[in-house]
Amino acid sequence: MSSIKLTKRQEEIVQIVKEDGPITGEQIAEKLKLTRATLRPDLAILTMAGSLEARPRVGYFFNKDKEKQFKATAFLDLKVNDYKGHPIVVQKSASVYDAIVQMFLEDVGTLYAVDSEGCLAGVISRKDLLRAAIGNKNLDDLPVSVIMTRMPNIITVKPEETMLQAAKKLVQNRIDSLPVVRELKEKPDTYEVIGRITKTTITKIYLEIVEQKSV
Ligand code: ADP
Repeated sequence: MSSIKLTKRQEEIVQIVKEDGPITGEQIAEKLKLTRATLRPDLAILTMAGSLEARPRVGYFFNKDKEKQFKATAFLDLKVNDYKGHPIVVQKSASVYDAIVQMFLEDVGTLYAVDSEGCLAGVISRKDLLRAAIGNKNLDDLPVSVIMTRMPNIITVKPEETMLQAAKKLVQNRIDSLPVVRELKEKPDTYEVIGRITKTTITKIYLEIVEQKSV
């Protein structure tokens, strides 16, 4: 992700323009108790970087759209492969009881069920387990394969996709997590689970981007 590290003075200028823009170079200089000439290089850099815009006879103003555009672009560049977390996997023959224990022990909200060959077979969310637990006494005898969301209905993401694509899939399908998968060459439509992307992954990246003092 490309960004320009601002000097303290440049940050002060951006802050002034954000609060008081449109504002002339002369007025910014006055606020900072500096001369217009001293400020000229900083203003030139900020204008070239696109964080400030200058209009003749109006002055400098803050370019909100440019900021938004930059951040969206930053999200676009990030690859799922670099942000994927460790997937927590259970056998699809495991009991609902064991899945609940596993979810607590691993502190995750979603488990991925695999078949005897280790390929993705299902997704088990908190609500799936709660639903199964209501009025069902024999959670030990109930395999997760009965209650999970099954293939081919699972929304997955590939390691080479972008985090923006992953975020869209999470929001559009109203789900909390996506298994990161690799299709087996020898078996089309059969997937190995190699990671997970959750809403928390997206929130962390969002914070990383907005907290960066970049323009
Ligand atoms: P919760 O049930 O804890 O609110 P989700 O919103 O992720 O969690 O799950 C809602 C439903 O969607 C559940 O039935 C779950 O099995 C299913 N689900 C979760 N993730 C996926 C996915 N990646 N693809 C398809 N279905 C999913």
